[in-house]
Amino acid sequence: MKQLVMLSGKGGTGKTTVTAALAELAGRVMIADCDVEAPNLHLLLKPRVLRSYIMNISRKACIEPEKCTRCGECEEKCRFGAIRGISVDPHACEGCGLCAHICPSSAVNMESPAGAEVFIGETPHGDMVWARLAVGEEASGKVVSQVRMEAQATAVEKGYELLLIDGSPGIGCPVISSVTGVHLALMVAEPTPSGRHDLLRALQTAAFFRIPSLVCINKCDMNEVEAERIRAECASLGVEVVAEIPYLEQLTEATRLCLTPLETEDDEVARYFQSLYDKVTEKMGTSRLQPRSIT
Ligand code: SF4
Ligand code: SF4
Repeated sequence: MKQLVMLSGKGGTGKTTVTAALAELAGRVMIADCDVEAPNLHLLLKPRVLRSYIMNISRKACIEPEKCTRCGECEEKCRFGAIRGISVDPHACEGCGLCAHICPSSAVNMESPAGAEVFIGETPHGDMVWARLAVGEEASGKVVSQVRMEAQATAVEKGYELLLIDGSPGIGCPVISSVTGVHLALMVAEPTPSGRHDLLRALQTAAFFRIPSLVCINKCDMNEVEAERIRAECASLGVEVVAEIPYLEQLTEATRLCLTPLETEDDEVARYFQSLYDKVTEKMGTSRLQPRSIT
């Protein structure tokens, strides 16, 4: 099974729109939304939830008031200033367990609150896995790994040939969890100075993991100077720009209405994404896929 990840240096470049379009064109694929901090692919693909479960990720200290003698030992020793009296600030607690270890009254319990909810569902274009982080949960890399593991298991079980991954934005731990082991990265970038800078960082991240990259410039007519700089920098890095999609009012309207690009039933929109799909699948060698034809 081939794995294709869509990446962008930052959020809001159209990465999720591209993922949705490729899922539609592929006909039947496994889909994973690894943008767990701001998942929205499910808003476009509208999966039917088949099952879901809670992930417990971080440990947090919790003091039992009945057992606590108010000796103040834990407050004094906590290096993160997470304890005030018998209250623990869950956002400051790092879960090191020191307070539980030193408490002379065994009044501190280490608990694992819900860190994320993982969903497994089905869309008209294939099965899909996504997740939602609990408020304040920071361990999104673990959740991304879980989403990918679920997606890979489902893909193998159901015989999918391609796993499409909507990757996390940025270059941190969740992105690394998104890209490890994939065959190809498609970078979606906008032609702005920050977009170009973020694209280069994302390309460096992919290169570090020896993952070949392609680039799609979204809203390429928004800033011709920056678009040309992206083309030049990609050329110097030996990275192919496989698609340039101009600003299309129909796409903006589709996003506002939570519609996928092909649901616009607009020929111009369809042609841009069909061309992108053809080039990406050619690079991946997924010739056995049978793309939906666009007129
Ligand atoms: S060390 Fe234990 S007994 Fe002392 S204040 Fe903390 S929780 Fe209470
Ligand atoms: S688990 Fe560690 S970080 Fe959390 S309150 Fe206890 S000592 Fe502080």
